[in-house]
Amino acid sequence: MAPADLPEARIHASCDTPCMTARIIDGAAIAAEVRAEVAVKVAAHTAAGRPQPHLTVVLVGDDPASATYVRAKGAACTEAGISSETIAVPTGITQTDLLAVVARLNADPKVSGILVQSPILGGIDEAAIMSAIDPRKDVDGLTPASLGRLVQGEPLLVPCTPAGVQQMLLRSGYDPAGARVVVVGRSMLVGRPLGILLGLKAPGGNATVTLAHTATRDLASVTREAEILIVAAGRPKTITADMVRPGAVVIDVGTNRVDAPERKSGWRLAGDVDFGPVSEVAAAISPVPGGVGPMTIAMLLANTARAAAST
Ligand code: NAP
Repeated sequence: MAPADLPEARIHASCDTPCMTARIIDGAAIAAEVRAEVAVKVAAHTAAGRPQPHLTVVLVGDDPASATYVRAKGAACTEAGISSETIAVPTGITQTDLLAVVARLNADPKVSGILVQSPILGGIDEAAIMSAIDPRKDVDGLTPASLGRLVQGEPLLVPCTPAGVQQMLLRSGYDPAGARVVVVGRSMLVGRPLGILLGLKAPGGNATVTLAHTATRDLASVTREAEILIVAAGRPKTITADMVRPGAVVIDVGTNRVDAPERKSGWRLAGDVDFGPVSEVAAAISPVPGGVGPMTIAMLLANTARAAAST
């Protein structure tokens, strides 16, 4: 996306600065499109006599939030024609026993993808468990081997949230090639692999990427440079309207619970971007909920189908 491709900001009589009402990047709709494509590929795969793709999720302990995520992943698998199972192990499992579970799944030809649900409770060395997953079955794309391949520009399975953000941009017509992209957040789960992915010399990449974080000096001056601004900070309103370049494309990865006394639950989900005011400056913006979240699950299915196809 060259700077010249950016939509013109409109000048409203009531506004001091150029402003616009952003187009909504509908992650739920794009995710449905991806899931439907995966279902078609899986149907062709099985019609060709290959074994049904199969995802095994290992759930350690009884964290209710993790159990909810795992159920949602299982339902999405079923819809795409992917079989799935959850191996629930107690919090007290030893590191050795959990490594043995992973080794058994690595060796099982029926299993196309392995996902060990994070966080792993109970004092287990999470990095050691993740590292033990066969990279060909690493559908989360977060093992050192998978991340190493990504850095080398030869990714096997790309981490789901970064891959989801990339697909949202491409399928909305915002190819990052040539664009100045700022990613706020440098976690190994989102910001860092996303920055690498969008900077690769490859289709869907070729962006000029800046990674910002808590030590970034004058964050607003950095984010205002962004033609594409992606925010994965984990803090509501990290990005306010004055920090956004008029006409920018804004992707909000953040998923935060904020107080909502008017709701029965007492809370609602909010992203990291001050959505209303930023919508008046940006050309396009992804909402929370209904943005990156559904894409993450869709890319998990895509990775599972891909893993099955390559084994
Ligand atoms: P994380 O591990 O806590 O990392 C947050 C990153 O943001 C860190 O690099 C931190 O900088 C940076 N940061 C925090 N506050 C900042 C600020 N005020 N200014 C600049 N940088 C700031 O979080 P994460 O796992 O990457 O997740 C980020 C958010 O995305 C969370 O809300 C999470 O729930 C959400 N998420 C959503 C999905 C999805 O599917 N929708 C998937 C994954 C994550 P330092 O490195 O300097 O500490």
